Parts: sequence; C-alpha cells; structure tokens
Amino acid sequence: MKKPCYLFVVGGVMSGVGKGTAVAALGQTLKARGFTITALKIDPYVNVDAGTMNPLEHGEVFVTKDGDETDQDIGTYERFLGLEITKINYMTTGRVYQAVIDRERALGYGGKCVEVVPHVPEEVIRRIEAATKLAKAEIAIIEIGGTVGEYQNILFLEAARMMQVRHRGRVKIILVSYLPVPGSIGEMKTKPTQTAVRTLNATGLSPDFVVARGPVSIDRPRQQKIADFCQVPWDHIIAAPDVKSIYDVPELFEKQNFSKKVLTSLKLPLRPLAKPLWRSYLKQKAAASGTVVVGVVGKYFSTGDFILSDVYLSVIEAIKHAAVANGVGLELRWLNPEAYEKSSGAINELKEVDALIVPGGFGNRGVEGKLKAIRFARENKLPFLGLCYGMQAAVIEFSRNVAKLKFANTTEIMPNTPQPVIDLLAGQHSNLQNGRLGGTLRLGEYPCELSPNSLAAKLYGTNKIKERHRHRYEFNVDYADKLQGVGMVLSGTSPDGKLVEIIELPEHPFFIGVQFHPEFLSKPLAPHPLFNGLITAAKKTSQSR
Ligand code: GLN
Repeated sequence: MKKPCYLFVVGGVMSGVGKGTAVAALGQTLKARGFTITALKIDPYVNVDAGTMNPLEHGEVFVTKDGDETDQDIGTYERFLGLEITKINYMTTGRVYQAVIDRERALGYGGKCVEVVPHVPEEVIRRIEAATKLAKAEIAIIEIGGTVGEYQNILFLEAARMMQVRHRGRVKIILVSYLPVPGSIGEMKTKPTQTAVRTLNATGLSPDFVVARGPVSIDRPRQQKIADFCQVPWDHIIAAPDVKSIYDVPELFEKQNFSKKVLTSLKLPLRPLAKPLWRSYLKQKAAASGTVVVGVVGKYFSTGDFILSDVYLSVIEAIKHAAVANGVGLELRWLNPEAYEKSSGAINELKEVDALIVPGGFGNRGVEGKLKAIRFARENKLPFLGLCYGMQAAVIEFSRNVAKLKFANTTEIMPNTPQPVIDLLAGQHSNLQNGRLGGTLRLGEYPCELSPNSLAAKLYGTNKIKERHRHRYEFNVDYADKLQGVGMVLSGTSPDGKLVEIIELPEHPFFIGVQFHPEFLSKPLAPHPLFNGLITAAKKTSQSR
C-alpha cells in the first residue's frame, strides 16, 4: 500500500464554527471517491478524557465502542464516515503527557532527558500514526481543537510541522476560519483570517486550503485578497456559508471540487465519485411531509442568556435521522425540567408535543421536574423514550406513583433512601469512596438480550443487541418483582440476567426506557430502531389530534 497521507484541520479566528463538520464532510467525499479514511480529534484540555468536563462547557460526551469518553466531534465523524472509532483516535494534552510520563517511569526513554520538545509532539505523532495504521487508512484527517494562537495547542501544531518534514508532500494543512459580515458594514471582512494565517505561519505552518466559514459565501474578490496576503491559491479557498443542515456540507464541498483539489495536492489518483450516500439522505429529507413535535427534557440547555443544544447532539441527530426515515418533518422543543418544579401549570406545554425524550444526565438538579414530565407522558399515553438517566427516572416515577413506593429514589441523589430502586452498580462503591471518578463509569459496548414479543424485540427485529453505556447506577433488581407485579416489563437484560437494561410499559402505546445510549449508534441512512419507533408513534399522536 502507498504510504498514508495526513490532513490537519486547524481553526482560525474563533472556535465552534464547524471544524468537526468540515472534517466529517471532507472525509465523506474522499470516502465516496474510494479512499479509506480515518479521523482523529485532539482536544487541548489537560483533562485525560471528556468524561470529567461539564457538558455545559464542553458539549456532549461521546462514548466509543471501546469505552472512551470523547468529544462530540468523534460522533460526527462516526455518523458521516460510517466508522467505529476507537480510543486511539482521541487525545487530549492530559492523555499525551500521561503517556509520556508513564513511559519515562518505565525507563522507556532509555535514560535520555525527557523534554517537552520533542518528546511530547513525538507521542502525538506516534498516536496519529498508530491510529492510521490500525484503520489501514490511506488518508487520516486530524482535527486540532480550538484555534491557532492559543498557547495550549502549540505542541500539536509542532507535531504537524514535524510530520510535514518527515512525510514530505503527504501532510497538508486546512485552516477553517470565520469571515464575519458586520451588520454595520454589510461587507465580508477577511482581516481576521489574514491574522489567523500569520499566527499559523509563526508555528512554521502554512495553510494549503482555507475553509471560509461565514454567514454567506465568500466571493471571488475576497478569495483573491486572502490568496494575495496568505499564500493560498484562490481556488483553494473553499466557501462554507451557513447551511440549513450539516448534511448539506458534503454537497457544498463537492460542488467546489474540494476533494479533487485535496487529492491533487497530495498527488493521489482522482478516483470517480461513487454513489454518494448524502445525496440519498437529502432526497429522502426533501420528500418529508407533515411535522411531528418532539420534546427533549434536559437541564443542560441554557447557558447564561443563550441556549446550547450541543450537549444533546447525538440525541438530536438520532431524532432527525428517524424523522427522515419516517418521511416526516420535525420540530424539536427544548424543555426545561426546572420550570415544572417552579410552576404547576408549566407541564401543560407537553400537551403540544407528540413524543417526549428524557436523555442522560447526572445529579440532582431538575430531576423532580423530569419525573413530572415522565408522569405526564405515562398518564397521557404520550410516546416516551428514556435514555440512561431518563430510564432511571422512569423507574423512580413508576415506583412512586404506581407501585406506591413513596420514597423511591436513586442513591445518586439520596444515598440513604429506604427505597433505592436505582442503586450503584456492583464494584462502584470503592471507586466512589476512593475518589476514583474519571473513566470509571460502566463505559462502552455491552451485549443485551431482549425478551421475545417485547416492544424492544419488535423494534430491533432481533433478541440480541449491543449498545453503548455510560453510567454508575442501575436498576436495583431487589425491586424487580414488585414493579413487574404492577405492570412494568423488564424487556432487556445483560446476558447473565443480572443487569436490567430496558424497561417498558405494555399498557402504554409507546413507553420505553433504556439504560444505554442508543443515540450513539444512529446514522443518517440507518436510523436507530428505538428512535424510529418513537417517531412512528409520534406520527400517530400527531394524526390523532
Ligand atoms: N447519572 C446516572 C448514572 O450514573 C445516569 C448517567 C447517564 O445518564 N449517562 O448511572
């Protein structure tokens, strides 16, 4: 096989403008041209993984098959590239330093003085090359989080510079930069991007391509301006205006021959574009008729005066995929559980939704409000899907209001509750007592067996599934008989029967809670069966109004 090529994607001007989407969309178009692709994410944080970061600061924690707690961009790569990405494709400053220090303690540097440069970038390169080899990738796309000029990503840029020297001609740099159009001027400004390029130049790198993000398309004169000032050919400046859906981006790139230009710059053959998947998805999406309203109850939506839906990114994507598969338009509503705690009338807003999702979460805040929402869904036959904490909350709600266990709770909130219907997983006591909290949840893919004839088995079309997990607490089987006696069905368990993974209420048209995170497995053209089922049920609710 020819030696692999590497594309580094870095940010300029500001973060959060879609580097992850650019990586995924470019990767998808290269894949459609028959190249084997892998994608890596570098987070400059000192945290060893994303599991210990507050989602309000960092966004969703995406869990890989092999149990790594990573950045939401890894999820975007999986969805666009149809890959299962593993640990080796995600790194943080903390993880890299930890590996260097561990190797030093094992005399792995043979008595050398271990220095920040070159040993830290060397470790970064080792990981990039190992991930590329593992994926047998012809092209690896590596996203460096944040923006150039931030002190904390300097060692990652140094790794890119070193690789450019070592793998001559096989390493290219793509700068994703933002071009504002200030309202008072009405003109797209290139200066911030020019400054970002200068800053990048100071690290010894020069962009081969610039992805020009902005509210509108960059025009030819401004492409020329960047070309003149920044040493990038004008036709290597790719317009990336805001679009309605991230699934429009591959087509946007392809129209500008981005993948061809990248392949030419890498001296790779121009293989023809084979049936691009995104076109079938967009076609299906365009054919949708009618609308379902899906409510998502979560406490991580508001940050100051702003609403942030990134925390639930995979859940939202999974709902969208299912809506497209069901041929129906979608209106998402972010619902704040704390509002249901403060005012008794607030819950009535659920009368206007066609389905309810309570996604994962941690801690006390908003839980009583979530319980009220779940009760409303149960009593009013509103289709309901509970994910992880949402499933645990559904068990608590049912225990309190149907099984009449007044004090039912999770020991996460009330460690001494006399009715711990949700309790710590076996083996987790010592982690909690010793403060071993990072990376110690039950993480990654586990098998689950479904009861024949259950709603779950019907939706999945099989009795054996595998799903990804991220939790420390679980259904307490001491309460299994009691809850089953009043109508709850435990329809999915671990193969040894010890862990309850799915609960459902057969008296209800669609009420299901799962201990895992199905949202991580949904793909645009392969929606997840649980979300698919929820949207099918939501369509019925909407039609019966
Ligand atoms: N806080 C719960 C637990 O640790 C649920 C976690 C989640 O929703 N991901 O078990």
